[in-house]
Amino acid sequence: MIPESHPRYRSLIIRERLAASTKTGVVSLEGLTAHGRGEAFDYLLGEKTTESALRAEKIAAALLLVARHPVISVNGNTAALVAKEIAELQVISKARVEVNLFHRTDERVKVISNLLKDQGITLVEGDVSRYIPLDHDRGLCHFDGMYSADVILVPLEDGDRAQALIAMGKKVIAIDLNPLSRTSKVATVPIIDEVTRAIPNITHFCKELCSEEIQELTQTINGSEFIKDALEYIRERLLDVLD
Ligand code: ATP
Repeated sequence: MIPESHPRYRSLIIRERLAASTKTGVVSLEGLTAHGRGEAFDYLLGEKTTESALRAEKIAAALLLVARHPVISVNGNTAALVAKEIAELQVISKARVEVNLFHRTDERVKVISNLLKDQGITLVEGDVSRYIPLDHDRGLCHFDGMYSADVILVPLEDGDRAQALIAMGKKVIAIDLNPLSRTSKVATVPIIDEVTRAIPNITHFCKELCSEEIQELTQTINGSEFIKDALEYIRERLLDVLD
């Protein structure tokens, strides 16, 4: 039992949830190590949403709202951490939700799909094909889901697929704590923030943005600004520690 008074309570609860989710097959063991890399960057970022990440979240909300066919791609870690929050985002953004896994088995797709549906999420289901040109199973997707999407939100993505989606002409919103990852570098909007903070923020902006703001936010997007901001933020924090 983790006491609420623990200074790193939130982080420990997330770890506990992910570890428990390996037992149900929702999270893979590899997913735990991916989370560890994310945690290390979150530590460097002070475990809070920076002003720059908040702006990226606002732009992400605007992009989802103007999209013709928005899709949210969900993997095991995302399902374990933010199923309820994705259900809320789906309602407000009208995005389709699709399961997409690197370590894909029919059984795992079923377990994750059930968890998402239990939270009220409507899923794109049925046959998948290798519409995304990749040698691994993240290339499998639905025709009326990701294949037809113009804007895709990809929390905790791998760089190959983010790159392939961009090459297919899609706008990619990534949530990845690592500002140096290939995903962050290629994404249209890299959100350098923890997924449990980022998704509720995007939902909040979807509720409050007016059409003029949406227009203004989606006119010119410069993803590399968010990477520069995150690296600068980390650099300043490290200098402060030494002072
Ligand atoms: P790339 O291929 O983009 O260079 P990668 O090989 O590190 O990156 P993955 O192994 O798929 O990609 O890892 C996913 C990334 O998700 C991790 O690097 C980590 O930074 C990020 N991540 C993990 N957990 C979280 C989380 N809870 N919130 C936000 N980001 C996370």
